[in-house]
Amino acid sequence: MIECSWCNLNEEDRQYLLFDSEYWFVFLADEQDYVGRSILVLKRHCGSIAELTEDEWKELRYLIKHLETCLKITLGADFCNWSCLMNSFFKDSVPNPHVHIHVRPRYRNSLVINGNIYNDNEFGHHYALKKKEQIKEQDRKMVYQTMKSWLNSQI
Ligand SMILES: [Zn+2]
Repeated sequence: MIECSWCNLNEEDRQYLLFDSEYWFVFLADEQDYVGRSILVLKRHCGSIAELTEDEWKELRYLIKHLETCLKITLGADFCNWSCLMNSFFKDSVPNPHVHIHVRPRYRNSLVINGNIYNDNEFGHHYALKKKEQIKEQDRKMVYQTMKSWLNSQI
């Protein structure tokens, strides 16, 4: 069985930690194809959302609301696509899945950061799997700081 990377996060993996709650981590995703895209990672090794405890579900519900509000207020997202896919784990002959949830904010209008314009050309449709646009590094840092400040000031 392959060692679980979500259970062995190093400093580099944690550099974009947005929020740390009792049962979940929230990270800004490496892929910023949809600006503000984030990942919620369960702190416990667990292979399916069907196996979450009541307390983990309760906190997840709170985090979904908290993060979605953050994305709407700080970045102007209209709504969010939430997904728990787990597909890549099952490419291995002995899958070792770890629950994590993706959130992609969706934008009707252009998002402007430091004068750079980002468009959600698929708005109203399924998110694109291979968007070519890359966020500028300074914009990524600004998104991270803005979201982190908001998420940690509203508790
Ligand atoms: Zn794990």
